[in-house]
Amino acid sequence: MTVRTRIAPSPTGDPHVGTAYIALFNQCFARQHGGQFILRIEDTDQARSTPESEQAILDSLRWLGLEWDEGPDVGGEYGPYRQSERRDEYRAYAEQLVESGHAFYCFRSPEELDAIRDARREQGLNPGIKGDLELSADEVKRRMDAGEPYVIRMKVPEEGVCEIEDMLRGTVTIDWTQIDCQILLKSDGMPTYHLANVVDDHRMGITHVIRGEEWINSAPKHRLLYDYFGWDMPTLCHMPLLRNEDGTKLSKRKNPTSIDLYERLGFMPEAVLNFLGRMGWSMPDERERFTLDEMQAEFDIHRVSLGGPVFDQAKLRWLN
Ligand code: GLU
Repeated sequence: MTVRTRIAPSPTGDPHVGTAYIALFNQCFARQHGGQFILRIEDTDQARSTPESEQAILDSLRWLGLEWDEGPDVGGEYGPYRQSERRDEYRAYAEQLVESGHAFYCFRSPEELDAIRDARREQGLNPGIKGDLELSADEVKRRMDAGEPYVIRMKVPEEGVCEIEDMLRGTVTIDWTQIDCQILLKSDGMPTYHLANVVDDHRMGITHVIRGEEWINSAPKHRLLYDYFGWDMPTLCHMPLLRNEDGTKLSKRKNPTSIDLYERLGFMPEAVLNFLGRMGWSMPDERERFTLDEMQAEFDIHRVSLGGPVFDQAKLRWLN
């Protein structure tokens, strides 16, 4: 099996250090196994995605030397894969799940859904959106013919627990009652992150999904989608979140988080990579200064420690 990893940033803002951090570990993991590292732009949120943000992400990854190993040919170099170019394909997958009984058309407005949640809370039930909102085939047809907007939602179990295997965390259990019948296809015809992400990881032959801890609660939905489609799920690895010094999630308000800022301030890419490489990871001999090549040569994902690594700019200045 050829190891294939990816990063899948959404181009909705500055090129974030968190993206570079996850890219670094994905690239090291792929290189260490003689595999490939891929860049996929997840730009299905049409209101928030911009070409400028996409370009800035590409530029920062190149500046850092975190090159990806394949992609469409753009002027002699690899461009990224882009989800927005494949919307019809995702729709077909969503409809396939409706046909197999794993998803349903939902015509409820946000206000109606809020009212349903409130009513459930009052009855002492979990306020999740569940599959009992499914309408009869005749009613679906009537509403579609009348031009009512709709989304496609996946069905999720009403109760029980979902077990997720994570390379760093072992077995993680998440209660199904906490999980909504997730929207897969939005009313504008675009897929949500969950559908597009699973379809693409499968189609691109991704073997290991190494991403930030904030996505762990999405894993049960993904687990279910892989099962519904009858596909093997990649191995999961959720990296610790980078943190501000006060332990909160790394934020722009407390730390400069944009990679291009470090570039403009004259930081060396090697220093930024060295710094990111020490976020929750260490060399076997504990040495503090190392290059990307050295990190790749000595890389072992199991050396990642889960305590939230603190993004302390003072240390970055010292390395520079
Ligand atoms: N588009 C997601 C992001 O913005 C990707 C998460 C994932 O790696 O699955 O980070």
